[in-house]
Amino acid sequence: MYPHQQVSVSAVILSHSHQDHYGFLRFLHSAIPVYMSPGTSSIIEVSNLFLDARVNLDQVQTFTMWQPFQVGEFTITPYLMDHSAPDAAAFLIEAEGKKVFYTGDFRGHGRKSVLLRRLLADPIPGVDCLIMEGTMIGRHEGLYPDEKAVENAIGSLLADQRSYTFVFCSSQNLDRLVSVYRAAKRHGKVVVIDLYTAFVLDKLSTLSDNIPQFHWQGVRVLYGYSHAQRIAGYDRQLLFTYKKAKIEWEEIRRRAQEMVVLAKDNRYFRTVMLPKLGPPTGARAVYSMWPGYLERSNLTKVLESRHVELAEIHTSGHAYVENLSQLVFALKPRHVIPIHTFSPGEFLRLFPTAIQLADGEEMTV
Ligand SMILES: [Zn+2]
Repeated sequence: MYPHQQVSVSAVILSHSHQDHYGFLRFLHSAIPVYMSPGTSSIIEVSNLFLDARVNLDQVQTFTMWQPFQVGEFTITPYLMDHSAPDAAAFLIEAEGKKVFYTGDFRGHGRKSVLLRRLLADPIPGVDCLIMEGTMIGRHEGLYPDEKAVENAIGSLLADQRSYTFVFCSSQNLDRLVSVYRAAKRHGKVVVIDLYTAFVLDKLSTLSDNIPQFHWQGVRVLYGYSHAQRIAGYDRQLLFTYKKAKIEWEEIRRRAQEMVVLAKDNRYFRTVMLPKLGPPTGARAVYSMWPGYLERSNLTKVLESRHVELAEIHTSGHAYVENLSQLVFALKPRHVIPIHTFSPGEFLRLFPTAIQLADGEEMTV
């Protein structure tokens, strides 16, 4: 929206910090308030600094999970959900005696699966309309059933590893970082993170005591020039703080067998990391992200040319069809509205009370 335009919405309420949910936030009129969880706000702050997300956080108000807040006539209650983004929320929206529940993105097989189980065991009564994601409908990614299985599979791979292990995963997927850390710890390995990841973990440390930190035993930080520049622009002192855990290339080479190096599928990996580590004889790589990204990349070829064996160990951030059905069964909404799916037809077939709405189409509850 342009600054001179009349504002036509009361607020924007953000469920979580994935780009497909907030990517256009920077175009929002500055007069429109934005609500999000503290964790979402922290991730966006980090993304502003490292990924040029360019979101104006001045208009942001943070909410507390399970504490209702008011936007005009609407009472909004955020529900913490299990998802691959930290501090993700669903929303109960109430007005004029009607209830709408918007799931955001969620799953029931991550580290906080208890959240979905609680919602199923003690469902919100009288939901008129359920707006529910359906990413996994029509998708078949049967890699690993849950986050625990991912942790165990990474652990088994590390158990007999005699050289570096590269792990490709998102630094914003805290569940996955916890899995990597726990698997590494169990097998006496050291997780090497970059400055960006150290900063993300530091920023989110208030969310839980289980989030690995740069100063934990078995965590070391590899400094890179561009990350250091960005952190210096934010708070130079942090570079000294993280220095306690700094690791040099020489030590990584010397202790190759112990090293679990967090890697990104980018130019830095190809032109700096791989050459710095020399011929990585016996090195292995774990790809722990959505397989669709790997299909579009030449990473497999790059690793093959270096004789680095690649294993895909991943579980989705989205709910299985079984969990979607359980939620619909528990809430018994009058209507279900599909969102976030490439298979709305299949969604309608699964849920007879579902109504497909086009973008911008209005519906009276
Ligand atoms: Zn998401």
